[in-house]
Amino acid sequence: MRHLLARESGEVLAQLAWSRVLVAFDFDGTLAPIVANREMAHMRTRTSELFAKVCSLYPCAVISGRSQSDVSARLASAPIKYVIGNHGLEPGASLDEFEEEIAQARASLQAALGGMTGVDLEDKRYSLALHYRRSRNKRLARSAILAAVAALPVRMRVVPGKLVVNVVPERAPNKGDALLELRKTEQADTALYVGDDVTDEDVFELDQPGRLLTVRVGESQSSAAAYFLRDQNEMDRLLAKLISLREKRSST
Ligand SMILES: [Mg+2]
Repeated sequence: MRHLLARESGEVLAQLAWSRVLVAFDFDGTLAPIVANREMAHMRTRTSELFAKVCSLYPCAVISGRSQSDVSARLASAPIKYVIGNHGLEPGASLDEFEEEIAQARASLQAALGGMTGVDLEDKRYSLALHYRRSRNKRLARSAILAAVAALPVRMRVVPGKLVVNVVPERAPNKGDALLELRKTEQADTALYVGDDVTDEDVFELDQPGRLLTVRVGESQSSAAAYFLRDQNEMDRLLAKLISLREKRSST
């Protein structure tokens, strides 16, 4: 894993910025800092300004685990081209079936976990998120959640995250599928994707040299991403760099 803002990475980023590129981001932990109360998540003013500018210079996408409407509302007035919710499945095909499967899963999980303090079930219509950030014994909460999910009558894909277990219909497209679809729709040659969590590994693992540049917020030995940013604050520097590279190109 290499640092994307290091001098040695400058050439890679410049080539990307000057190509037909789709620029895509996760939201929580990537464009916006992680906060204890997920309802309060938002971009810093500076990030928001830079992000709007990047959206005006590049075709941009946000691919989030939040529902599409939830994450859209947090992107304010940025002229963003694509907003994908629910880990890559929304919008998409088979939503009615996914909704039905999720409703069934929710009922079983509520019955199994309803009494657990600090575990909170978020219904995103096409997927569920079981948050245990407020739980006293996080290890216990996590294993109870995983056991309840494993006992579900409907088969689900389990995507662990930061103090959350995501439950997604098994046949649903993931973030990697969504990114490839958007790159095709956009007829882009390359894509840049920045994310920070386990669900973003579906993009990082695509391994498409020359056609996809993967960036993780936070260096990690276990990630498949090729590059990293040291922390979420560095997002602003990356956005500023993307802006200056495109502006430099159009002025020559
Ligand atoms: Mg994230």
